[in-house]
Amino acid sequence: MPAFEYAPAPESRSIVDIRSSYGLFINGSFVDSQDGGSRKSINPATEEVLAEVAEAGPADIDAAVRAARAAFEGVWGRMSGANRAKYLYRLARIIQERSRELAVLESIDNGKPIRESRDVDIPLVAAHFFYYAGWADKLAYAGLGRGPQPSGTTPRPIGVAGQIIPWNFPMLMLAWKIAPALATGNTVVLKPAETTPLTALAFAEICQQAELPPGVVNIVTGGGETGRMLVEHPGVDKVAFTGSTEVGRAIARAVAGTRKRLTLELGGKAANIVFDDAPIDQAVEGIVNGIFFNQGHVCCAGSRLLVQESIADELLASLKRRMATLRVGDPLDKNTDIGAINSAAQLEKIRELSAAGEQEGAQRWSPPCELPARGFWFAPTIFTGVSQAHRIAREEIFGPVLSVLTFRTPAEAVEKANNTPYGLSAGIWTEKGSRILAIADKLRAGVVWANTFNRFDPTSPFGGYKESGYGREGGRHGLEAYLA
Ligand code: NDP
Repeated sequence: MPAFEYAPAPESRSIVDIRSSYGLFINGSFVDSQDGGSRKSINPATEEVLAEVAEAGPADIDAAVRAARAAFEGVWGRMSGANRAKYLYRLARIIQERSRELAVLESIDNGKPIRESRDVDIPLVAAHFFYYAGWADKLAYAGLGRGPQPSGTTPRPIGVAGQIIPWNFPMLMLAWKIAPALATGNTVVLKPAETTPLTALAFAEICQQAELPPGVVNIVTGGGETGRMLVEHPGVDKVAFTGSTEVGRAIARAVAGTRKRLTLELGGKAANIVFDDAPIDQAVEGIVNGIFFNQGHVCCAGSRLLVQESIADELLASLKRRMATLRVGDPLDKNTDIGAINSAAQLEKIRELSAAGEQEGAQRWSPPCELPARGFWFAPTIFTGVSQAHRIAREEIFGPVLSVLTFRTPAEAVEKANNTPYGLSAGIWTEKGSRILAIADKLRAGVVWANTFNRFDPTSPFGGYKESGYGREGGRHGLEAYLA
């Protein structure tokens, strides 16, 4: 239990000005949806309706794709890389200037703690735009592009990118998609997730503030059907998707046989492997950060803890002590560690999989923890006695739920870590550098963290193997998906 009670430390909500309704952002302006459809976005911590947001139908998608095409064939397509960079730098600077407002808005719409939106999400968003601004006039030196590239020739952009993002990192995923696309000279139509559209709409205002030419960025809000229409629109040249493996598969099917390029960043079931020589206290912090960061709504979350049997008791005792200090509650309180679950549907999924864990024989444990009466909440939870066949060891729970498995030898750790249809990330905790290299080499995961977890940097490529998708975002590699 905490040594003392914390006083409330609420961030001020008055810094954000949420409008009662939002239109679609097409060709530089906010417009109503042509068939008048809309959806409500709610605050998952209170269930309060925040705004009514337009839902794009086929005519809206068509208008957005046409606007993006006109900008691609017009002013944006003719602009030099150096001038594109100026716009990207301008976007990055405005994001920094408005960072406090964006962080509060993200926490209200998504449910994540302000500590994370303020210190992780929004700084990384700005960093992403700064990083890709730097590439815009240096593409000829990136060594990328599919066509014949005589030396010194700049690779060409692909055209109009249709981009679909999930609700777990709404503004960060927008940055991962839009920054490299614009740096390489493409134009975009982006669909945010239906439960978290507000920071994408704030970004649309930032595009206006930066005087980005109309049509370069278009934001179409709506549900899965809106996303499907965007993917299938014949005017889209490239599709970039982050979300569930199931929807990723449907998109891959829809794009198969067309000339469209595709990148998919899908689910994960990462192994966080702790060897007997690991520093226990640091490993415990890494485990907590690996699974409880962002309520576990993280595709690369360390959701399977693999701990060497000889230290399992000591490590689990220490982990439980640490979990008892985690503060669950108001996302706008600066002391909060774990915020609200993003939606009622996601809460239901976490409950269902956790119940399956108990039914299949694993032991469930959560620290004593009072959850608010309204809103969507789930206490931090660990399951011990988990076997590889259990659903909670195989399926992505996407919540604050950790499945603990043990191993005896390094070979067994590698075998268990790789025993998953996914391959997005992994973690290794050990004192020995040679062991880090030897194990990392054998793990089938796009990102392997050593003695840390959930570290992100715009200069570093990110992406998966197997059912975690294909293509890389971030770094020089992230340019490739947007170059012909
Ligand atoms: P989805 O994959 O459904 O959502 C991701 C995005 O795709 C959203 O913008 C969604 O729209 C859109 N979308 C949905 N259906 C289609 C379609 N047929 N064609 C094109 N776009 C579509 O994830 P969910 O939000 O439904 O979450 C379900 C599960 O997926 C979670 O429980 C979690 O396990 C996993 N997930 C994984 C993520 C990851 O990063 N790996 C991210 C999010 C979820 P809309 O939301 O508006 O319906």
